[in-house]
Amino acid sequence: MLDIAALEKSFGDVKALSGINLSIQEGEVVCLLGPSGSGKSTLLRSINLLERPDSGRIGIHARGAGFDLAFGPTHRGVGGRELARLRSHVGMVFQHFNLWPHKMAIENVTEGLLRVRHQTGLEAGNAATRLLARVGLGAKLTAFPNHLSGGQRQRVAIARALAMKPDIMLFDEPTSALDPELVGEVLQVLEDVAASGMTMLVATHEMGFARKVADRVIFMDGGQIVEIATAEEFFERPKHERSIRFLEAVL
Ligand code: ATP
Ligand code: MG
Repeated sequence: MLDIAALEKSFGDVKALSGINLSIQEGEVVCLLGPSGSGKSTLLRSINLLERPDSGRIGIHARGAGFDLAFGPTHRGVGGRELARLRSHVGMVFQHFNLWPHKMAIENVTEGLLRVRHQTGLEAGNAATRLLARVGLGAKLTAFPNHLSGGQRQRVAIARALAMKPDIMLFDEPTSALDPELVGEVLQVLEDVAASGMTMLVATHEMGFARKVADRVIFMDGGQIVEIATAEEFFERPKHERSIRFLEAVL
């Protein structure tokens, strides 16, 4: 459902993505691993066009949604309404939550349903209440973000992304900004989302999570994909010298 071919992205002299080829099937959970600066965020941000790739192709095909984006000197991808449509199919959760600080938890979740999906207040409120309960925040509907813990804020952000019923969810180090004791509650929600059949691409430094939940692992270094393997293969029998060194350093 996600097909990436020959994707390239540079920032000045820095080649952030180089020759990225990658396919993800519907319902697959793929963890994106690699050292700092290896291009994980740039890849995720390219998929929902927070970054414009320099060249290459991105295809997203699901539930009747079809996007075939080509990038190059004369192909700048999409803009305007088409971009909004793409982002409503591709959910993203960031390291730093990015909640609206002046909106309650429930309003953070209903906002997109009201503005993008044009639901009624009742429909959106019901959906948001259900989703916040699902991430364990049924008692925090009217709390403002600054009255929530980091783990709770991140769970609101996940509920907000889920509310749009995306075809794929991208997570960029969703637990990296959290105090260690709050990491588990967010990983549990991610695991539940994965179990629900959501297609997920998760950049993470949580090796235990990757090993347990990922169907496949993509290991990046220096803007390139060094190794793609099943989680079991990658952690038990990494093939590339660079992957082996990375695992030795982090495990
Ligand atoms: P981390 O684990 O630290 O989050 P990452 O794997 O997400 O790292 P990226 O953020 O994708 O890495 O960065 C890849 C490379 O591109 C790095 O060399 C980074 O410095 C560079 N880079 C990323 N964004 C920009 C930008 N907006 N301007 C300039 N350089 C950038
Ligand atoms: Mg990053």
